[in-house]
Amino acid sequence: MMEFTGISASPGIARGKAFLFLEDKPTVPRYDIAASQVDFEYQRFLVALKKASAEVKGLVAGRDAALFEAQLLMFDDPELKSRVRQSLEQSRRNVEWTLMQIVEEMSAKLAGAESQYLRERTVDFSDAGSRILNHLMLRDRVRLSDMREPAILVTHNLMPSDTLGLDRNLVLGIAADAGGKTSHTAILARAGEIPAVLGLSDISRAVRPGDVIIVDGNSGTVVVNPDPATCARYDQSRLAWESKRSALQEQRDLPAETLDGKLLSLEANIEVPAEAASVLAHGADGIGLFRSEFLFIQPNKFPTEEEQLAAYTSVLVAMGERSVTIRTLDLGGDKVMPGFHMTADSNPLLGWRAIRFCLARPEIFRTQLRALFRASVHGSLRIMFPLISGPREVDRIIEIVSEVKADLRREGLPFREDVPIGIMIEVPSAAVTADILAERSDFFSIGTNDLIQYTLAVDRGNEKVAYLYEPFHPGVLRLIRTIIESAHARGIPVGMCGELAGDPMATVVLLGLGLDSFSMGPIGIPLIKRIVRSVRVSEAEAFVRSLVPMGSGAEIEGAVHRWMEDRLDFFSW
Ligand code: PEP
Ligand code: MG
Repeated sequence: MMEFTGISASPGIARGKAFLFLEDKPTVPRYDIAASQVDFEYQRFLVALKKASAEVKGLVAGRDAALFEAQLLMFDDPELKSRVRQSLEQSRRNVEWTLMQIVEEMSAKLAGAESQYLRERTVDFSDAGSRILNHLMLRDRVRLSDMREPAILVTHNLMPSDTLGLDRNLVLGIAADAGGKTSHTAILARAGEIPAVLGLSDISRAVRPGDVIIVDGNSGTVVVNPDPATCARYDQSRLAWESKRSALQEQRDLPAETLDGKLLSLEANIEVPAEAASVLAHGADGIGLFRSEFLFIQPNKFPTEEEQLAAYTSVLVAMGERSVTIRTLDLGGDKVMPGFHMTADSNPLLGWRAIRFCLARPEIFRTQLRALFRASVHGSLRIMFPLISGPREVDRIIEIVSEVKADLRREGLPFREDVPIGIMIEVPSAAVTADILAERSDFFSIGTNDLIQYTLAVDRGNEKVAYLYEPFHPGVLRLIRTIIESAHARGIPVGMCGELAGDPMATVVLLGLGLDSFSMGPIGIPLIKRIVRSVRVSEAEAFVRSLVPMGSGAEIEGAVHRWMEDRLDFFSW
């Protein structure tokens, strides 16, 4: 039995067998061959090609065949075969090396192609190439789509694109070496209500496939091959946790109203339209953040206007009169779309991402805006733009929005003229100039995941600096206060959709700072509602005033802990 401690990223307790997912890069052998060996090497290639093709055909069964269509075409491509044959004859190197060279060369060509369609084939080509290579090297490469029965996913790190082929219902829990509380693995886990512990450093090296694993997302503990007594202890904690959850669920239909009568809006963050059902089940007042980029994180192609229209409409219809805030594409940084090669920024988090990318690629941006406005007739839509750093970006957005509206009017396509247009405040420059930005926006939503990362210069996904990621740092709290005061002075509402909004430790502080709405993973809503319904805004404001002289995040966090424990009897649950 081994015990590991990491960052508790998604609550709940799960036990199951380990499914190990490691995306390691193979070391490809390189050696010279004699002219007489060319035929033999070529035959090895043909056998591996056949196996790779059969493997993909097996994957297609029961799935979206279009995802794999391009790969299947590549396996049948006579050009690939003749290039391999020719290279073997000319370079006289072993076939693994030869194939890798060809794949790299052709991928680079595709990535630089004029046509978007061809550029988007790059990922298919590399994937097809690595499948053949794996068969040549007799490597058994595990993919997430190979998961066939419920298991605990043990991995080094999970990219959003890795989860494409994954059946989320099969994942009982997640244990990962990398990642922090606001990394995308954490967000996905919470969205899927999957217990997760991240930042475990090297658990993926200690676990073997089939080991029994307990993931305790409440305490941040992972136990490998637990003894019977440990299993019994965790089973008991799981039961206790589940009964607390169902007690909280009982207030699902009650309003999020403080004891002194301030009505807050508790909303949900979602990644895919299908989550709307879970949003309603947890008693959310609306959707405060629909991360639309998850529609785009699929290999091969950007969704068309009609596909986007269908996705946005389905969420609006499911939510009825409740407000739905959809964020435009936030691609780049840690959210990479397979097959779409953005520039190789040396510092992606400060690079060509989010609104910067959209303003530089207006055809993609306009398509999304058209779909959003067309969907607006089906519900209560708000549109929000990510990573705004200054007024020039907002002015340009407003111009594009009015052009899109004019086009729709000309084409006779119905839309709502009064869709509120808001911005995310997640860059420090936007926070300190919030008064200027408020003149140009209908609402603000504070993205604390990025705001904290940029304010404290701490990569939100890097477990080595996670100790510096302090939401209660006075620098962060002062920025939040500035944003809220600037917005209220100009009469616009402020929400928060970063993970801090769902942190029960922060609720009273945020109430005291004057936040109007909180948006979080649906699973977090019942506890936050319980806290909101148990306190007065006046006491929260007084408490926040007492925090102002404190000089460090640790001091403030300690004070918040004590306040919560003294004031809310259920908090030590
Ligand atoms: C944020 O930065 O707080 C946010 C909500 O956006 P994302 O986590 O998608 O970057
Ligand atoms: Mg963000």
